Amino acid sequence: MREADGKAQRRPRHRTHEPPMCRRATHAHPRECTVFRWIRLTLAGFGLLLLAAGLALPVLAPPVAAAACPACYGLKRAGTSLMVDRAMTATDRARLARDLSTAGDKVRVFYGPFEPAALVIACASQACNQRLGGRGALARTWATPFGDIIDLAPKGLNATILAHEFSHVALHQHAGLPAMLGETIPAWFDEGLAVIVSDDPRYLKPGAQGHERCVVSPAWPLPSSAGDWGARAGRDRMIYAQAACAVLAWMEANGGRAGALAAIDAAAGTPADAMRPAKSARLPRPGETFLWPVRGNPL
Ligand SMILES: [Zn+2]
Repeated sequence: MREADGKAQRRPRHRTHEPPMCRRATHAHPRECTVFRWIRLTLAGFGLLLLAAGLALPVLAPPVAAAACPACYGLKRAGTSLMVDRAMTATDRARLARDLSTAGDKVRVFYGPFEPAALVIACASQACNQRLGGRGALARTWATPFGDIIDLAPKGLNATILAHEFSHVALHQHAGLPAMLGETIPAWFDEGLAVIVSDDPRYLKPGAQGHERCVVSPAWPLPSSAGDWGARAGRDRMIYAQAACAVLAWMEANGGRAGALAAIDAAAGTPADAMRPAKSARLPRPGETFLWPVRGNPL
């Protein structure tokens, strides 16, 4: 280093936070230094975001946190897409495997080919259910960017409940996460369809025709958002029967099962399957009502 006026040039006392390239190379272009700063800030912001998510997940969505750390929640892996309570007996494990198979078959009857892109977390004890934040729900489906997660309470370990949750998964797979988050598909349609696909005897009468199966007429408006649905369902479980009745009425007016599948594809922005009719059924909009014509009104 050259000396000026016989004195050594002083180094700055404070430590610089410039990237090495900017510190060492006096010829480094200022724009390159700016780019480095932005990269550093972006990485720091991303790290903070990950830290916040890591702290919030166990509180806001315990099953999602459990998927990342099964042992932290008393769970163990029982397959690539199944985690079970450590307290689950071998007999219950075998019954669960049969129920998973039956539930998949029920969903295929409606949706066609279906491989659930979902992780199932099954609790056999109340302690497990409490660790996962269960508050009375038999099962819940969590839509995440990495796939759906289904958590089952001990009383939800049966083929009907599993088929209900698989119906949600199938709908998410057909419609795509953006359509679900954007509430393109009303919550009452999603839930009513799940009741029909699972053939839930709590909310449907036996019968071949839609109107024969309806237990209770819907009291409109039914909730369109998942948040509103959760609040209403917490107060009155028969809202599931109302939603099923509304979907049956909609399907009767819109081409039945094929019309529903075509409308779901259309909502996702994907072309309808060639096997499905060209009929341009569309999903109901928030606030729209679907009641049986007077002739078929079941109540
Ligand atoms: Zn549901």
